[in-house]
Amino acid sequence: MHDIDIDLIEMTLDITKYVIHRITEKDRKLGKFKSAEELKALVGATITPEGIGGERALELWKNVLEKATASIDHPRHLAFVPAAPSRAAVMFDLVTSASSIHGAYWMEGAGGIFAENQAMEWLVSLTGMPKGAFGVFTSGGTAANLSAMITAREYWRSKDPEHDHHKGVLITSTGAHSSVRAMAKIIDAELLLIDTEDRMTGEAVTQLIESLDADKRRRLLGVVATGGTTNAGIIDSLDSIADICKRYDLWYHVDAAYGGGALAADSVRHLFKGIEKADSITIDPHKWLFSPYDCGAVIYKRPELAKKAHSQEGAYLDIFKDKAADGFNPSDYQIQLTRRVRGLPLWFSLAMHGTNTYKKAIERGIELAQAAARKITANPLLELVREPGLSCVLFRRRGWQPDDYKHWTFKNLEEGFALVTPTRYRRQGMMETVARFCFINPDTTENDIDRILDTMK
Ligand SMILES: *Cc1c(COP(=O)(O)O)cnc(C)c1O
Repeated sequence: MHDIDIDLIEMTLDITKYVIHRITEKDRKLGKFKSAEELKALVGATITPEGIGGERALELWKNVLEKATASIDHPRHLAFVPAAPSRAAVMFDLVTSASSIHGAYWMEGAGGIFAENQAMEWLVSLTGMPKGAFGVFTSGGTAANLSAMITAREYWRSKDPEHDHHKGVLITSTGAHSSVRAMAKIIDAELLLIDTEDRMTGEAVTQLIESLDADKRRRLLGVVATGGTTNAGIIDSLDSIADICKRYDLWYHVDAAYGGGALAADSVRHLFKGIEKADSITIDPHKWLFSPYDCGAVIYKRPELAKKAHSQEGAYLDIFKDKAADGFNPSDYQIQLTRRVRGLPLWFSLAMHGTNTYKKAIERGIELAQAAARKITANPLLELVREPGLSCVLFRRRGWQPDDYKHWTFKNLEEGFALVTPTRYRRQGMMETVARFCFINPDTTENDIDRILDTMK
C-alpha cells in the first residue's frame, strides 16, 4: 500500500491537471442539465464490484457529468445568488479535504479552527458587534438561521419556565428568505409576516406587535430582519427594528446571508446601520465572500447563549470537555457535530489576498449593478423596476409576458451562453414577472451585460 502506487500518482496528476484547467479556462460554455435517462444512457453503470478505474470515471465526469451542470461561477451566470469562489479558496478546499480535520472540537482540530477563527474575527469586525461577539462557520445560511433561531428560543425559554409549554412567535417580512419560514417550522415557532417586499421598518413591527392579542404578545420571542433580500437586495431598517426589539425584549436576528459580504464595501456599509445591535447574524461566505460551497456563518452577540442551546453531551464526547482539551469547540455553537473546517478556504484566500482585495471585488459587484441599471435606462425596450439594491437589478422588457421571459432564459442556457432567470416582484399589490440580475463575480464585464441585454431584442 505504501510502496509507490503508480495508479494513485496518475490519478492525482490527472485530477490536478483537470482542476488547473477548470479554474483558469476562459470563455467556458455554461453547462446544461439533462434528464436522468439521458445521463444514464451516456454514462452507464459506474458502480461495479471491480470498479471502472479512475481514468474512466474522470473522463465520464469531464465529458458528460460536469457538462450537465451550470457552473455557478460563470461570468454570465447572473441568476439566483451566483457565486465566484476565488481560485485560492478552491485550491485550499482541496487542502482542507487532504488534511482530514474533524472540525467539531479544538482537541482534534486546533490548527484548522484557529485559522477559521481568524477569518471569523474579520467577519465579526465587519458587523461592528460589541466585544465578546463571535461566530462559527456552518453549512450555509439555512443552517445558520436555524442555529440562531434555536438559540433564540432556548434563551426565551430560559427567561420564564412558563415558556416551556408554549410555541414562540417570530416576526419577519414576506421579503425574508424562504429558509426563515422553513426553519420556523422546524423550531415549531409561529411566524407572523409583515406584508412587504420593501424595507421592513421598526414602525411596521411596532404596529404589528401592538395589534396582537395578549396570548400572542406573551409568546413573542424575536424578530428576523433581512440585510439584503435575496430577490431585490433590499436592506430592512435595521436600526429602528433594533430599537423595537430592545423595547419589547425580543431576540433580534439579522439574516444577511446574501448581503453580508457588502458590509466590507465602504460605498454601502451605512445602509446596514443597526446591524451591530443584533443578537445574531447570518452571513454566507459562499455567496458574496468568494468561498466555495458550502460555507455559511452565524455570529452571536453572546456566544455563551448559543453554547447553552447547542452543546452536545455524550459518554464518548466527555473527553473533549476535559481541561486538556480546552479551547473553542465549533460544535457548541451550531446544529452540527462532525463538521468540515469549512472556513479554511476563506481563511487561506483572505490571508493570501488581503481584505482590501475583498473590498474591491465586492464593490465591483455593486458597480456592475449600477452599470447595468444605466444601460437598462438608456435602452428604450427596457425599463428599470426599481433602483438596484446592493448587486440586484430588477427590470422589465416592455411588452413581454411571463412566457417570454421563460423562453429567453432557456434559449440562453441552451446555447451555453448565459443563465439569467426571471423573478416575480410585487408593486402596488400587483405581482409582476420581471428579469433579474444578481452580480457577485468580479470577472463579469460590462460587455457581458451588453451581450445579455442584446438577447432581449
Ligand atoms: C441564500 C439565502 C439563505 C439561505 O442560505 P443557504 O446557504 O442557501 O442555505 C438565507 N437567507 C438569505 C437572505 C439568503 O439570501
